[in-house]
Amino acid sequence: MAEQTRFGPAGVPPMFRLLGASTLDTPRLLREEGLDAFEYQAVRWGPKPQIKEADARRLGEEAKKNDVKLSMHGSYFINLAGKRDVMEASKRRMIACAIGAEWLSAGVMVFHTGFYGMFEKDYALKTCIIALKEVSSEIKSLGLKVKLGPETMGRKSQVGNLDEIIAINREVEGTQLVVDWGHLHALHQGVFKTSDDMRKVAEKIERELGTQTLRNMHCHFSKIEFSSQGEKKHHTLDDQRFGPDFQLLAEVILDFGMHPTMICETPILDVDARKMKETLQQAQIQRQGQSRFNA
Ligand SMILES: [Zn+2]
Repeated sequence: MAEQTRFGPAGVPPMFRLLGASTLDTPRLLREEGLDAFEYQAVRWGPKPQIKEADARRLGEEAKKNDVKLSMHGSYFINLAGKRDVMEASKRRMIACAIGAEWLSAGVMVFHTGFYGMFEKDYALKTCIIALKEVSSEIKSLGLKVKLGPETMGRKSQVGNLDEIIAINREVEGTQLVVDWGHLHALHQGVFKTSDDMRKVAEKIERELGTQTLRNMHCHFSKIEFSSQGEKKHHTLDDQRFGPDFQLLAEVILDFGMHPTMICETPILDVDARKMKETLQQAQIQRQGQSRFNA
């Protein structure tokens, strides 16, 4: 499979549901729309997979047939910096999601690492890393291939700023870098105003984790509303009241020769995923035109 930037929705688009489509129809419908990624939402899962193995495998086959790359968003009920019982329950949910992800042939299981709660930030991060090492080794011993994808988070109360995500990726085996650009924008009070602001993130990742990790990152994107505490609400790409602008990221993707999977998390999932794809294509065409002009 050639490496390419892929685009798709976080979950089954509302319009597909209105048309009476099932989750199993989703990969075909996405392909028909020109999309090639899909993040399956396992966000309400408990300690056991909440999809039948046969159904998951069929969905995985449909995705493969339609060249749609599958990922999974794992359970929201995870807090690896919590009290012992909370942490143990979180680990069980993560293993359940990892098993489900394996049935789907999903490459990465994205999740939210946890909350600082009463802990110091450093201590909370260390606690999360220890727990994640245990989850990672259990995944390995079960023979699962899915990667763990701790996501950059958008609220001040959450473990998962860029430095913390880089540290986890460096220290825990079997991880995949997941950057939610909207979350970073919200956490840092609207930091992405120019392409250079995003370029700094890319440069830091390249410096700390290497070029391959940068180029292969898994991304979430949406426009985002925030308060002083961070993320409040996701908005569509056309909403001029909020940032960041995807055009800025498109330039960075081209500058660094990246081929990320871009999962759209705006309220109009697939429609905005297509818009993002068009924006990247336009930016590419413009550059080709410029280089021809300069030649
Ligand atoms: Zn998330």
